Amino acid sequence: MKKVKLNLNKKISLSYDICIGYNVIDQVGLIIAENHKASHYVLITDSNVSRLYGGVVLGIFQNLGLNTTLIEFQAGETSKNIQTVLSVVGQMLKLGVDRDAILIALGGGVAGDLVGFIASVYMRSVPYIQIPTTLMAQVDSSIGGKTAVDLPDGKNLLGAFHQPKAVFVDLKFLETLPNTEFNNGLAEIIKYGIIDNLKFFETLEQKADAIKKQDRDVLSAVVEHSCRFKKKIVEIDEKDRGIRRILNFGHTVGHAVEAASGYTISHGNAVAIGMAAAVRMSGKLCGFSIGERERIWRLIDVFGLPRYLSLTIRTDEIVERLKMDKKKEGDKINFVLLKRIGMPFVNSEVPEAIIRETIEEIKR
Ligand code: ADP
Ligand code: ZN
Repeated sequence: MKKVKLNLNKKISLSYDICIGYNVIDQVGLIIAENHKASHYVLITDSNVSRLYGGVVLGIFQNLGLNTTLIEFQAGETSKNIQTVLSVVGQMLKLGVDRDAILIALGGGVAGDLVGFIASVYMRSVPYIQIPTTLMAQVDSSIGGKTAVDLPDGKNLLGAFHQPKAVFVDLKFLETLPNTEFNNGLAEIIKYGIIDNLKFFETLEQKADAIKKQDRDVLSAVVEHSCRFKKKIVEIDEKDRGIRRILNFGHTVGHAVEAASGYTISHGNAVAIGMAAAVRMSGKLCGFSIGERERIWRLIDVFGLPRYLSLTIRTDEIVERLKMDKKKEGDKINFVLLKRIGMPFVNSEVPEAIIRETIEEIKR
């Protein structure tokens, strides 16, 4: 397995490994048994992932003599709430799970966020490990310790920073992932290509076909690069006060689009539309070149992601949503714009006229 070490400043105890490989789940069990000892392992997963992998992973842990229990919750975004937390925690209490336990999140972003959140508060916090099974979770949400559940008032409103003890990325899980879910992950990978550097962007351009076909070596290299990039940003700015905000590229408009569509547009599709919008704004406000703009648009197209929004979604609705979001961001709408590919920066002074004009342009 490839190993990427995430070092948190002056907090060696909070540093951890991101291990990446193909068909490595047996090895993952061994590493956990060896390096992450606990009196009880609580494997928490959603109903889909449980059906596909719950038994296998549970079997691996139990065969190693580890005291392991599987807890399942209903698959889907709507499970990422406090009711699910209470249900899972209730089961943990019944099982007598105490602070010597380690929780293991097996699944996509929902399982990761939910288990991370439970781990951050259960008996004033217990350790947890991430085993992400979606591309999106493997390259993004399992790394960096952001945990949260949604409230009726909005997404991710209840949460904490709580770093996992380890992240194990097994690319074999992706073989059963539906295409739409794979595309969600691709959108985040394109985002890294745009904000990291031109070299990685060019790799994505050149290897697009192999990535789409899930060529094992190419995908593995791309996932590893993505994890390395994300970990580098988290190391500099764990708590999202500065540079980590560039990871929001495409997400300001993206989140508004997702919400305005009543979450019928997937996160990846919304982020792709948001990136296309951010590129337009960058052209208007900071001289982002037409050449690079065309390359970004082409890459989004090649990966089969959208750049346009349906005319049925009102511009006012998007602008409303953008303004709602700023409550969390200190009264400013923060856009991540580009000077060039690989040179993102945060601009919180985008005039409303430019925002509206851009939203109009991305509708068709
Ligand atoms: P995300 O990782 O995109 O935030 P979820 O955690 O909601 O999203 O996972 C997306 C969907 O994919 C869920 O229905 C989940 O059960 C399913 N899923 C997760 N991993 C796999 C996998 N390896 N194979 C098939 N389906 C999966
Ligand atoms: Zn995202």
